[in-house]
Amino acid sequence: MTTLSATSTAASSGAPEVWFLTGSQSLYGPETLEQVATQSRAIAERLAAAAGMPVTIAWKPVLLDAVSIHRQMLAANSAPECVGVIAWMHTFSPAKMWIAGLDALQKPLLHLHTQADAALPWSTIDMDFMNLNQAAHGDREFGYIQSRIGVARKTVAGHVQSPVVTARIGQWARAAVGRRELRSLRLARFGDNMRDVAVTEGDKVEAQLRFGVSVNTYGVNDLVAVVDQVADDDIDKLVDEYADTYSVAVELLPGGDRHASLRYGARIELGLRAFLADGGFGAFTTNFEDLGGLRQLPGLAVQRLMADGYGFGGEGDWKTSVLLRATKVMAAGLPGGTSFMEDYTYHLVPGEEKILGAHMLEVCPTITSARPSLEIHPLAIGGREDPVRLRFTADPGPAVVAGLSDLGDRFRLTVNEVDVVEPDAELPMLPVACAVWQPRPSLSTSAESWLMAGAPHHTVLSKAISVEVLEDFAEMTGTEIVVIDADTTPRSFQRELRWNAAYHRLASRL
Ligand code: MN
Repeated sequence: MTTLSATSTAASSGAPEVWFLTGSQSLYGPETLEQVATQSRAIAERLAAAAGMPVTIAWKPVLLDAVSIHRQMLAANSAPECVGVIAWMHTFSPAKMWIAGLDALQKPLLHLHTQADAALPWSTIDMDFMNLNQAAHGDREFGYIQSRIGVARKTVAGHVQSPVVTARIGQWARAAVGRRELRSLRLARFGDNMRDVAVTEGDKVEAQLRFGVSVNTYGVNDLVAVVDQVADDDIDKLVDEYADTYSVAVELLPGGDRHASLRYGARIELGLRAFLADGGFGAFTTNFEDLGGLRQLPGLAVQRLMADGYGFGGEGDWKTSVLLRATKVMAAGLPGGTSFMEDYTYHLVPGEEKILGAHMLEVCPTITSARPSLEIHPLAIGGREDPVRLRFTADPGPAVVAGLSDLGDRFRLTVNEVDVVEPDAELPMLPVACAVWQPRPSLSTSAESWLMAGAPHHTVLSKAISVEVLEDFAEMTGTEIVVIDADTTPRSFQRELRWNAAYHRLASRL
């Protein structure tokens, strides 16, 4: 599902697999263990065939002793295609056998609590049946040892014929693919942070330890050198592609007064693509304060690269860029798009409250189904030539807004469920792409909670990903997550922040 050719990650790691492990023990004897194997294979096949399962489910032979369990976990750790492990105790698997393996496991774990058949055959149940179908207590033994060790995991209970059960496993698998992506993600920053801004700062060493992402800065003139080498023929072809894809303003078309600006925009895109591809980067940042020899702030180029799956953050915001790349990978193949976003301005009329989100230029066109218009307008900031950009308005519908902040001792992911809506009226004077949304449960509770959380103004807006995927991703990466949704009250949210602060400070090792 990491379909992007933009980074080396997907190609080098192979199609993502989740390994399906079944626990038992040798006391049951070969005949029963044969049934265990047959039934667990059937469960794994059912999972693999479930609608929307985003990964391959790879069944592994039933585990009977501590040595083979430990060996299996070490194999999972070192297999690049393995993004996570599902464990099910079909029968009773004494959990001391699992201590070494669970302690060694470095991949995400999902504890599936299920049974071979959904229905009990009431009239024929005998002790053979009872001894074969023992997950009800086998998985309790397994739950105990996971809690005793303190293993991070997701627990899912129910029969795999339930679409709710398979969907929840699918969400977790998406998060696991996102986690794997970050383990090898390389992010290029063109210039540093916008001067004096606090929230876009952060601990890049901690981010590499926690998420795996490697964040490094490049002089913007290193990019300019590549941009300046782009061939005119390639620019011709890309300008043709623009004309086929967008409603291009007449002044930007060949023969128009501003055609040279569009050609320069295409030159930036081709140079940026080449730089990112050559370096194996899957995400990047720009900073309007540090453009070196670039004649325009990259707008159109950034929008199109985001649409192809690249992570991006403005003003040097590498954390949002990382989150955007991860979200795009986790949401791959799902309807609805995902964009860099900024809470820009409010409509505060009582009863009609809305947020108008946008950025200087860089909003991803995957969040609209309309044909964007390609235009040029002045940019009051940055002191460069007028930049070309795509203009559109995001489609209405449910979405999540997520932001990552560095609290000094941990990263906090703040998520808000929102509803993207149509603007109350046309926005003819707004020269950039935008999204208008109503945050749940209300603008006041959302904003008060967001501010209490110290969550950022730069965010990822996704119409594709669910909160559950982000929760699973946070669990896998040891990241704090707080969710603002229809049930949130400022009082309960404030308490949760306080409890979380205590928890995370206790849980972090000295
Ligand atoms: Mn910004």
